[in-house]
Amino acid sequence: MNQTERIMEAMMTNKKYISPYTDCKLCKERGKNWNGDDPKCAFTNGIFSNGNWNCETANRLRDLTDDTRFYNNDQYCGIVDLDGFGKFLILSWYKSRGRTEGAWVVDQALISPITLKEAEELLSV
Ligand SMILES: [Zn+2]
Repeated sequence: MNQTERIMEAMMTNKKYISPYTDCKLCKERGKNWNGDDPKCAFTNGIFSNGNWNCETANRLRDLTDDTRFYNNDQYCGIVDLDGFGKFLILSWYKSRGRTEGAWVVDQALISPITLKEAEELLSV
């Protein structure tokens, strides 16, 4: 069964959209509940990838920065204090588009993309 057939079957049987990727828990729970481009999870390999679209975990990370974000030239940068000891999460995205462009854990001089495990612990999911 190809992807189009899977989507058609899901629509016919009222099941959630089944992504061809190994999605995060929150993407799996949400499925696809809109018309338009298919979601693409940011965490298919367990670590953040910027080749994403409307990943539910990435969206919720962005939501954490409602009061701690900067905006300039249609570009957002959101900051989350991770531990109160100098470790931060830095997120970036364009307008309110579905792609989260960056999700970096900054721990003093160490900078690394956030892992799914870190993201789920932060979101308590
Ligand atoms: Zn996801």
